[in-house]
Amino acid sequence: MTELSTRDAWRAVLGELQLQMPRSAFETWLRQTEGVSYDDQYFIVEAPTPFAVAWLERRMYQAIQKTVEKVVHRPLEVQFQVRGGESISSVRATNPADQLLEADAPPTGRAYETQYDPPSFNPRYTFDSFVVGSCNELAFSTAQVVADSPGQCYNPLFLYSGVGLGKTHLLHAIGHTCASNGLSVRYVTSEQFTNEFISSISKRTTEEFRNKYRSLDVLLLDDVQFMSGKEQTHESFFHTFNDLHNSGHQVVITSDRPPNSLALLEDRLRSRFHWGLIADMQPPGLETRMAILASKAKHLNIQLDEMVVELIAKRVQKNVRELEGSLNRMVAQSQMTNAAITMESASRILDVMTADTARHAVDPQRILDAVSGHYKLTNDDLLGRRRTRRIAQARQVAMYLLIYELELSPTQVGRFLGGRDHATVIHGAGKINGEINEDTHLRRDVLSIKEAIFA
Ligand code: ADP
Ligand code: MG
Repeated sequence: MTELSTRDAWRAVLGELQLQMPRSAFETWLRQTEGVSYDDQYFIVEAPTPFAVAWLERRMYQAIQKTVEKVVHRPLEVQFQVRGGESISSVRATNPADQLLEADAPPTGRAYETQYDPPSFNPRYTFDSFVVGSCNELAFSTAQVVADSPGQCYNPLFLYSGVGLGKTHLLHAIGHTCASNGLSVRYVTSEQFTNEFISSISKRTTEEFRNKYRSLDVLLLDDVQFMSGKEQTHESFFHTFNDLHNSGHQVVITSDRPPNSLALLEDRLRSRFHWGLIADMQPPGLETRMAILASKAKHLNIQLDEMVVELIAKRVQKNVRELEGSLNRMVAQSQMTNAAITMESASRILDVMTADTARHAVDPQRILDAVSGHYKLTNDDLLGRRRTRRIAQARQVAMYLLIYELELSPTQVGRFLGGRDHATVIHGAGKINGEINEDTHLRRDVLSIKEAIFA
């Protein structure tokens, strides 16, 4: 059997791992990792921050190790390092991540924000590798305009779509272009932005924080929906945004929903988004899905029968990430068994994946059960009107999980939780979201409930 390139091997590993864990965990810890090299002894993997490295080592080592061995067909020791070549041992010596991990810190990378400098853009996420169809044409072309002449036309550019439809890809593509034109550009998720801001308050470095952002030519802010409910952060983002905008610097924002339905986002911030251009991306139609598969296959250097391409594209409709995931899984399998991908083998894998998805599907009831179980309450307690401290907190945790894990709207959550109005839900979920970073007990509660839900 021919030896896999590191990139293909790691990609196959990720394809497998993606199916073994909750989406949020995969996105947070594995999405931005890269396979660097491997030999007879070691498989080297890079992650963006020391915090991510520490987390992967502590929490996911076994799973990763096992999958790597399965893919490359020999026992290897997986070693993680921080992107940019810093060796992990030197990081460990000074890395406060360990302390945070002991305290079961949330997966936010708080206090490591400086490690995000300089920004590293995913080399796979370029304009060239983005397949354009009518579903994403506007977003693609405006992103290109913005990349070529930032601050000139659409400012801010606001991109929104459901998950896995290419928002992050386009942000990185803009980043590549701007960076190669010598501009100072920073990609940051709203979660990182929030954490940096909070930690600048506690370290009394808000002035530095502001200056760092104010001096940018281009700010790329991903997943703004996660900034919801944190007022001080809004305030700070609002000022940052105004500073940049007033001096003609470009801001690009993504969200999984349109600005006017970002329920938790303050009005004045929302109205600013309308100064620029709002472009949405729809799920790709069959032909675009086929084109995307063909392009990914070409990139992976594998031959895919047209019929197989059509089969996958017909079965996997929801988003491009899943489309890619199924292809990766097929490639992994074919490389493991050293057999070509056929209609039969592809169809079998698609069957397994459908079954997996169904098994892992988390529904609101499961969240309700997990929360009431954890707090030793009944479901009726949560749905009812009683308001002891314990019940009130449990209810708010349920609101939080239903919004952040299931991505239900506040109205849906309110309806599900015994007919509460959406403002109550927004308040409750926002409260937990705000307190979770400060309150260790609460954080532990939420983490163990999540474990129960996704077990
Ligand atoms: P989002 O940020 O909207 O959740 P991503 O940008 O992370 O989605 O995209 C998920 C995956 O699908 C990425 O690997 C990305 O490269 C790929 N992808 C999405 N849309 C396209 C497209 N139009 N052409 C090529 N790849 C795409
Ligand atoms: Mg994204």
